[in-house]
Amino acid sequence: MALYADVIIDLSSFRLDRCFQYRVPDEYRDSIEEGSAVTVPFGKGDRRIRGYVLSLTDTPALEESRIKDISGPDTDAVSPDDILIRLAGWIRRNYGGTMIQALRTVLPVKARSGVRVRKLVSLRVSQEECKEKLSECEKKNWHGKARALSALLENPSVPYEMLTGKLHVSSNTIQSLKRSGIVEVSEKTGSDPGFLDRVGEKERPALSPEQEEIISGISDATVSGEPGRYLIHGITGSGKTEVYLGIAENLDRAGLQTIMLIPEIALTFQTLIRFYRRFGDRVIVLNSSMTPGERFAGMEKARSGDAAVVIGPRSALFTPFPKLGAVIIDEEHETSYKSQSPPRYHTRETAAELCRMRGASLVLGSATPSMEAGYGVEKGEYRYLSLKRRLTGGTLPDVTVADMREELKNGNYSPFSKVLQERMRTVLERNEQGMLFLNRRGVAGFVSCRACGYVYKCPHCDVSLTQHGEKTMRCHYCGHSEMKPDRCPKCGSKYLMGFKAGTESIEKKVREFLPGCTTIRMDGDTTSRKGDYERILQKFADHEADFLIGTQMIVKGHDFPDVTLMGILAADMSLYTGDFRGGERTFDLLTQAAGRAGRGKNPGSVVIQTYSPDNYAIMNAASQDYSGFYEEEIKYRSLMSYPPVGHMLAVLVVSGSRERSGEISKELAAAAAGDGINIVGPAPAGISYINDRFRYTLYIKSPDYRKLTEARDRCESRSFGLDLRDTEIQYDFDPVGGW
Ligand code: ADP
Ligand code: ZN
Ligand code: ZN
Repeated sequence: MALYADVIIDLSSFRLDRCFQYRVPDEYRDSIEEGSAVTVPFGKGDRRIRGYVLSLTDTPALEESRIKDISGPDTDAVSPDDILIRLAGWIRRNYGGTMIQALRTVLPVKARSGVRVRKLVSLRVSQEECKEKLSECEKKNWHGKARALSALLENPSVPYEMLTGKLHVSSNTIQSLKRSGIVEVSEKTGSDPGFLDRVGEKERPALSPEQEEIISGISDATVSGEPGRYLIHGITGSGKTEVYLGIAENLDRAGLQTIMLIPEIALTFQTLIRFYRRFGDRVIVLNSSMTPGERFAGMEKARSGDAAVVIGPRSALFTPFPKLGAVIIDEEHETSYKSQSPPRYHTRETAAELCRMRGASLVLGSATPSMEAGYGVEKGEYRYLSLKRRLTGGTLPDVTVADMREELKNGNYSPFSKVLQERMRTVLERNEQGMLFLNRRGVAGFVSCRACGYVYKCPHCDVSLTQHGEKTMRCHYCGHSEMKPDRCPKCGSKYLMGFKAGTESIEKKVREFLPGCTTIRMDGDTTSRKGDYERILQKFADHEADFLIGTQMIVKGHDFPDVTLMGILAADMSLYTGDFRGGERTFDLLTQAAGRAGRGKNPGSVVIQTYSPDNYAIMNAASQDYSGFYEEEIKYRSLMSYPPVGHMLAVLVVSGSRERSGEISKELAAAAAGDGINIVGPAPAGISYINDRFRYTLYIKSPDYRKLTEARDRCESRSFGLDLRDTEIQYDFDPVGGW
């Protein structure tokens, strides 16, 4: 059968809707794939020009005789853009979605840079006066002003948005500082952040021997043409960012550029300033609040070779640097590195492919490496490097695990264990602050015994069952369901319940327990409007509440020096989410949450409440033992063939009709079946009905990733013949988070 390629010709105008079809000569069948650059005859004189393959098909779109042959692969196509287009082809093959979606992901939209006005807050008084004012504010407990002044002491000009955003200073506070003549607010247009001319110099710390060795090891290998893959394991404050800076600097000296990826929420003003100090205006910063024009301007600057480093969230991976030296992924375990809309690519794996194509090094950094990274080390694909000491001083908090089964036995029916109650009182007495964390994920409610901790699990999938309605429990992977019994099969207790605590009821209980205390709640309900999130954090930072109660939102990247207590109310809620990543998420969350307490002068304490005190994720999080956790978790993944040991493709079918959704998922299951493939489901999705639409999922498992992409291709071919009215099908490889 003949093979035809839809080719885009003109990259400069990048009209994705304008393709030309060519025939692929047999000799090039194996070397041409989606994303390949090719030479084709074009126009009247059959001028030879470059084009890119958008898709391949065996059905000609026009009369056979009018279709010309591709002249051949274009081997000169090695510019950053050519490589990004090839990478788009790789993304499309490995994660699904359409080639157009993949191209839109890797290539920035061409847009004119709109003029945008930025406000800048600058110090109008001397450093000495600023210091005096600062200590005055601290004495008077003017927390907001104090935070603004310490930032200005660090750097005499700070972007307005940085103060109100990352540093939780309210606009009223800035106004008040302005009125008293301490700061001025000016406006600046253009794309540079506007304060570079005033970035102060600062002495660099002398590197530790460990840091020195990691930096020179990675940069020497990269510069001498032997790029590698590395995992840097080190707790917060162990000097990882200093290592990233050192690598980028060495690569820059050799004329190579660095892509630095960071979860957006984790990019602090202090980190940005460190990069600006080192590289001046040769740093490009990308973030989600930028306009397409600003983004495009950043990409142009990268292309010109005038920049040394780009810092940004996962999309910064597609920065078209002329000579890429390294991609660094900080906090690589973060789930925001997995795209949640098509193409659902994994940043880590995509970065590895990009580095392979461009001869660059890949550097991962984390305090709690993902199972994927840990397994990569075990298989010898990554070199393991570690930074063991905390350089910032401060003691690690003291962690207590509270066994909630014992509390029940002793007649304590409140959501707070005795030890947590005691610590909460202490916080109030000492006028410190506490955070209460309800690690709720999604809406799933598992069923467990409050007396002995027994959790109902699927006999086939070894994940927790989820309560549906009053009486049934169901597995989200295979659909296995059982009746909810009246008594616990292990201990006979009748305290058997779906776990459904909400932040709102917890807040009420805190106020009942400690009358007169003040609380703020942060969850999906209280942060639905723009600016809510910042407002809540500002209030808490200004000490307007003794306790902050919330979901995972409160755990990430905030420094509140007066927080001395972190209470994790129900560690089990992230453990039993009905998917295979529950243990890993719990270990990350608990380790991070523990790191929130005791950042300031006073030592911190952490209370982890659980019905499963013997669970290895909880035990190892309490003792901060990553390798202990990894060893146990990889056994489970391996036994059940879950990623990263095996691979898994989730297929979601969403339809306005329940019957159609169910039938299509059955058809797809039949189409996917094949050698070396294990099919689980189809079954109603975790959220099986939302916005008047019915959702079914199907899980396809195989030790071999390629078998999954082939199964996906079979599903796609089959879906063309199905009645897809009001129906959509989505593919998710090695899913992170559930449906
Ligand atoms: P991480 O990225 O692991 O959290 P950082 O690189 O931010 O760690 O380092 C934590 C703090 O320690 C920073 O304030 C940094 O300036 C400082 N620091 C880093 N390396 C050294 C060093 N070798 N000696 C002294 N201080 C250091
Ligand atoms: Zn029991
Ligand atoms: Zn199951």
